[in-house]
Amino acid sequence: MLKQVNFSIVFQEVPDEVTLAINISNCPNNCVGCHSEFLKEDIGEPLSVESLKDTLTPYKDTITCVAFMGGDNDPVEVQHLAKWVLSNYNGKIKTAWYSGKSHLPKNFDASAFNYVKVGPYISEFGPLNATTTNQRMYRIEPNGEMTDITFRFWKK
Ligand code: SF4
Repeated sequence: MLKQVNFSIVFQEVPDEVTLAINISNCPNNCVGCHSEFLKEDIGEPLSVESLKDTLTPYKDTITCVAFMGGDNDPVEVQHLAKWVLSNYNGKIKTAWYSGKSHLPKNFDASAFNYVKVGPYISEFGPLNATTTNQRMYRIEPNGEMTDITFRFWKK
């Protein structure tokens, strides 16, 4: 089960998108130098299609993307919710997933997402906006190919 801790409208987490970013708890990862220790705790409210709809509805004409920030404890459910967003808003609202794992899960369904970020946070390599980062952000193309767009986070 996924639990939602909070959400915010953000502009930098997904390039070119106005994103409703949902922070998900029960993170099973153990990144050294974790920047959000509270997300490892069993806190928040159950995240379901119904609660997602309640959160999303007031912003449906403003946002262009929903980002699931975490959810490595139940990737199948993240995919289920992302597919619901894509089908319920006729593709007008895209989906992104921020995973803290180095690799996508075995049964990863690329058709559920427009963007995916992979990689644990390693403080010495820095976050996505550091050119030294180990993390990668991919745009998932209509044919399922994944294009590395990590450079979009780097200031020129
Ligand atoms: S993915 Fe890593 S940095 Fe993010 S909450 Fe989990 S342990 Fe912390």
